[in-house]
Amino acid sequence: MEIIIKALNLNYSSFLLIFKYKEINAISSTYEKEKRLPILAETDVLVVGGGPAGLSASLAAAREGVDTILLERYGFLGGNITQAMVETIAWYRHEKTVESDGIGREIEEYMTVFGGTYPDPESTGRLLDADMFKCGADKLIAQSGVRPLFHCYAVAAIVEDDLIRGVITESKSGRQAVLAKVVIDATGDADIAAFAGVPYAKGSAGDLMSVTTGFGVSGVDLKAFREDIAKHPGKIGDWSEETAKGEDNLFSPYFTDVFEKARKDGVILKESPLEGFWHALTEAGEVTGLNVVRVGHVDPTNVWDLTRAEIEGREQALLALEALRRYQPGFEKAKLRTLGSSIGTRESRKIVGRYNLTGRDVKNQARFNDSIGIFPEFLDAYGIVIIPTTGRYFQVPYGIMVPLNVDNLLVSGRCVAGDRISHSATRQMMCCTVTGQGAGVAASVAIKSNSSTGTVDLDKVQNRLKKQGVRIA
Ligand SMILES: Cc1cc2nc3c(=O)[nH]c(=O)nc-3n(C[C@H](O)[C@H](O)[C@H](O)COP(=O)(O)OP(=O)(O)OC[C@H]3O[C@@H](n4cnc5c(N)ncnc54)[C@H](O)[C@@H]3O)c2cc1C
Repeated sequence: MEIIIKALNLNYSSFLLIFKYKEINAISSTYEKEKRLPILAETDVLVVGGGPAGLSASLAAAREGVDTILLERYGFLGGNITQAMVETIAWYRHEKTVESDGIGREIEEYMTVFGGTYPDPESTGRLLDADMFKCGADKLIAQSGVRPLFHCYAVAAIVEDDLIRGVITESKSGRQAVLAKVVIDATGDADIAAFAGVPYAKGSAGDLMSVTTGFGVSGVDLKAFREDIAKHPGKIGDWSEETAKGEDNLFSPYFTDVFEKARKDGVILKESPLEGFWHALTEAGEVTGLNVVRVGHVDPTNVWDLTRAEIEGREQALLALEALRRYQPGFEKAKLRTLGSSIGTRESRKIVGRYNLTGRDVKNQARFNDSIGIFPEFLDAYGIVIIPTTGRYFQVPYGIMVPLNVDNLLVSGRCVAGDRISHSATRQMMCCTVTGQGAGVAASVAIKSNSSTGTVDLDKVQNRLKKQGVRIA
């Protein structure tokens, strides 16, 4: 703060005023001196971002035998799973659900054997333990020969003649560069694509989905809680505006009336956005992965918005805990045990791709020649919920990962190309593992066949994906 004040030649009170009204944005630009940068590393495939998409991309590429670096700004992998305690990787899964069967399923099964999952009360899938996931992910990448690079932020793209050559990084080691033949942007926010200057779309802060601070509590009387849930079970129809027929009555671990009562009694403000879900229950009396905080009007690519969101998110978490203590049987003695280490983002930039997926595609079992995997007809966002109880699925096209104008750059995870409705499918963690694995394999095939990611032979990509156990048709 002191440095900013000095740089702007302001006294403290005028700084605070500026901070409050965000007029600091009015200072539009300054100069950074050009300087030679040390090369931190060189590799075949550089994956930026270690969430579900980046983890899968790096595993898939390394297993194809190309040198792979996985670069992550924090000190652990998992993205939203570990940062925001989003445990629910497969909450949609029912008896007839058809899946891609790639690295996503493998991760879920690996973590179960590793002792890092819990039964999911609403599906046949498993819930991930956020902290155990950090340890399990370390082992998975070590076994596959991925080179991890943690505490390292990608802050710019190196692009020459419409080809990406690597990224510029910031870390405790200073400002450096990592060079690569192919870069996979798995930052969730399409940071690298934006730095590279490719077209992308992003709604205004008011239009984007809210962000959430995940938290977990201990000291819950599980018997009392379970008895209350049995008496007043939540249902999908309690929180969704539109479901496919017959799904409204499916069980949902939703707090049906806690926050309504707290609003009515003035424990939380009438306008408080608190609402949501509980997930794993541990025999130690913990309820982990509480997803009830909702911070709105946040642009996750604006650092002032992120700062406000972190503070407001923690404040909401404490208010939620107070409401739970008062109105949720079993929670009377609950204590805050864990807070997500970062706010969790649901939505920000999405690239404009060679193909832009649509809600119609997802809802009509779309088929594509360039399929890199399949994903069930599962939608959850913007008030629409479709649970894949029917066996219907769509193919995920390679084209949604291919940005315009810059080659050897692929984008995977929640920032792939598509409209809002399709995003409510492609943002799902299991679908992020599908695009991650597809990008990792395509990158390795492009490198091995001396082509680019824009011209790579997709028959070869599909064959390699099938060899990796992915269902693409
Ligand atoms: C509260 C909440 C609940 C959700 N519930 C569900 C659910 O029930 N089921 C479901 O499937 N999905 C759910 N989602 C959505 C899901 O978590 C995300 O869509 C998914 O995690 C996206 O995966 P990703 O790998 O694309 O990005 P992320 O998980 O966001 O991972 C991106 C990674 O990139 C790193 N990174 C970002 N920028 C940089 C940079 N410039 N340099 C270096 N590293 C960088 C980040 O630190 C992070 O590790 C939820 C999301 C939230 C926030």
